[in-house]
Amino acid sequence: MIEFINVDKVYQNNVKALQNINLQIDKGEFVAVIGLSGAGKSTLIRCINRMHDISQGQLIVDGVEVGKLKGKEVRKFRRRIGMIFQSFNLITRTTVLNNVLVSFVPELSYIRKLTGFFSKEHKIKALTALDQVGILDKAYVRVDQLSGGQQQRVALARTLAQNPDIILADEPIASLDPVTSKQVMDDFQRINREMGISVIMNIHHVEVALEYAERIIGVREGQVVFDGKAAEVTAEI
Ligand code: ADP
Ligand code: ADP
Repeated sequence: MIEFINVDKVYQNNVKALQNINLQIDKGEFVAVIGLSGAGKSTLIRCINRMHDISQGQLIVDGVEVGKLKGKEVRKFRRRIGMIFQSFNLITRTTVLNNVLVSFVPELSYIRKLTGFFSKEHKIKALTALDQVGILDKAYVRVDQLSGGQQQRVALARTLAQNPDIILADEPIASLDPVTSKQVMDDFQRINREMGISVIMNIHHVEVALEYAERIIGVREGQVVFDGKAAEVTAEI
């Protein structure tokens, strides 16, 4: 469970990206955060795993106040929260499998250092995650040989290998064509429904958000201006 209590976020340049956010997101929800560019969607999502620190208020995840976590605790906490980016953030010059295995040692940046490092258990976990997103047959293919949609699925598999409770997705389909976007969204939906993982997604394609998300949070100028079911969205957000 995620709770924002009177949360503000002011960046160093004095931009007030979030103002008095109060939200409660339950386990297993599929939430889409929508709004215009610059509204604060990305900031909202990135505060949840402390990629950004909040400036005021409290942010509580599973009973833990995120802002109070220190060093090692932050790293441990982040492992329970998967993060998916628009740009996939993969190591393109190595195999799909290696990209998933990397999630077991995120502090290492060079794949070369990883040779022979992984246990059989890690390998099984990685292959299982690839199977869950339908790209097990690509395990030994280099990432730069894959389409954008397949690359986003590798990123999803890398996240799933960590058994996260929550997946945060920051514009996951923004650089994909409509057909591929649908495949990736279907993956998110399946992961949410079958594995019970909460999905919180920031997305500017409103029609896609309305089709997939059970709950829509509309953000404008750093404030929540809508929070409800997709079917109830009427006003412009
Ligand atoms: P969205 O995801 O809805 O496009 P953002 O959360 O990225 O919105 O940005 C909200 C506001 O905060 C914008 O005015 C943006 O320019 C500003 N902003 C975002 N990131 C930073 C940052 N690292 N430093 C300063 N300002 C930022
Ligand atoms: P994205 O949509 O992937 O977050 P952006 O172009 O919005 O990409 O931002 C890229 C990076 O720059 C992010 O880390 C964001 O926090 C930061 N950023 C965005 N707006 C500003 C800003 N006005 N000042 C400083 N940093 C910013």
